Amino acid sequence: MKNITWTLLLLFWTGFTLAQKRPALERPNIIVILTDDQGYADVGFNGSKDIPTPGIDRIAQNGVVFTSGYVSYAVCGPSRAGFITGRYQDRFGFSRNPLLAPKDSIMGLPLSEETMADMLKKAGYKTGVLGKWHMGTHPSLWPNRRGFDEFYGFLEGGHQYFPEKWDINSEGEARTQYDGYRTKLLRNTQRVEETEYLTDALSREALNFVKAHQKAPFLLYLAYNAPHAPLQATEKYLSRFDHIEDPRRKTYAAMVSAVDDGVGALMDLLEELKIEENTLVFFLSDNGGPTKDNASDNSPLRGFKSDFFEGGVRVPFAMQWKGQVPAGQRFDHPVISLDIFATAAALAEVKPKNELDGVNLIPFLTGDKKDPPHQALYWRNFDRNRFAIRTADSKMILQPDTEFLFDIESDISESKNVISADPSRKYRLAERIEQWKKILIDPAFLGLLEDKEYNRLHTDRFTPETKEND
Ligand code: CA
Repeated sequence: MKNITWTLLLLFWTGFTLAQKRPALERPNIIVILTDDQGYADVGFNGSKDIPTPGIDRIAQNGVVFTSGYVSYAVCGPSRAGFITGRYQDRFGFSRNPLLAPKDSIMGLPLSEETMADMLKKAGYKTGVLGKWHMGTHPSLWPNRRGFDEFYGFLEGGHQYFPEKWDINSEGEARTQYDGYRTKLLRNTQRVEETEYLTDALSREALNFVKAHQKAPFLLYLAYNAPHAPLQATEKYLSRFDHIEDPRRKTYAAMVSAVDDGVGALMDLLEELKIEENTLVFFLSDNGGPTKDNASDNSPLRGFKSDFFEGGVRVPFAMQWKGQVPAGQRFDHPVISLDIFATAAALAEVKPKNELDGVNLIPFLTGDKKDPPHQALYWRNFDRNRFAIRTADSKMILQPDTEFLFDIESDISESKNVISADPSRKYRLAERIEQWKKILIDPAFLGLLEDKEYNRLHTDRFTPETKEND
């Protein structure tokens, strides 16, 4: 009897201390700020000289700069699909940029996939996405069906920045792929009349979301489409860059500066509401800069958006968690956007539905774990039959016509191809890629580059719908 009493007491005490350690309300908020097509060099924390980003730099000062921070693909759609599921997107066939196809329920993120919002909702989070969705235009694939309580933005892969250019109501009125850039914005499933420059509108909505949900644990996915083309900015931001002569670079800088104002205001708000220590903030770009399209700068990296040189997949990447993760760190081990989901799942104590490819970064950032978070990171471009792998000291790219191997730690610019120097090293890395390929499937849908073929197979793609039904 005495033993039973002690056991009960012990159970009660253990339960009590566990509950004390992390009550549900203390699950941290997660904010992910994702920019679009921003160059590696185009943030202050990576050394930008012509574009000051004091707002974004606060995240780096308060926390960690990931000098080897990667995304899982070199263009928007697949990279975002990887981020939002925490899984290599070729596991579920999201290998291409989706087309604008509002009648096609396959064109986007498969319903088999759990989004970060689906996952965090299981732990009672309020979830919001602002800006660019790009995970499908069919009503079954819209954000509110994919775990998000709140959505303000647009569905397509890019958008016009000025409200007067939003001259069609919905995707159903589009007659070409890029008409998707001209739709009115959506608040959840309703079209709205917005009057502000798009980047400013998204920043305003971010502040409102945080104010409204400051008491609940929340996920805010702030997906700015800036500084993706078209290059468009207001005088307020352009006037800051009279020192830049190239008009395209000047406009790009203004677009980055608009994002930076929004990020700075968001940082101010977290401070003012005293929720900084209960909020993780991630900042990254969805892929490297397409230097010709938007005048971005990936230096000192080689290459740009769409290829597997570092300029395509290594991005400006920083995070903060005040009071938990020591400030002012530079973390050089490779990390990947897929780690954000795994980190969020661990902190919210949720078991994800599907197998993840990322890891919880926190123990590595607090010093509890000393080894690198990843043995290797991988990339596949299905249509071009290209693969890439990054390990601690190596980066290899295999293309049908050429093979590259770089001593990436000492050669960040990928200037010296050492593929012939040591065949056994190449074979070891190639074998890893072969193993990784086993978890991948073929693309689930035709993509942006197959626009004409898709039209031939789907002749009703742009024929008028009777009524927007969601
Ligand atoms: Ca992009």
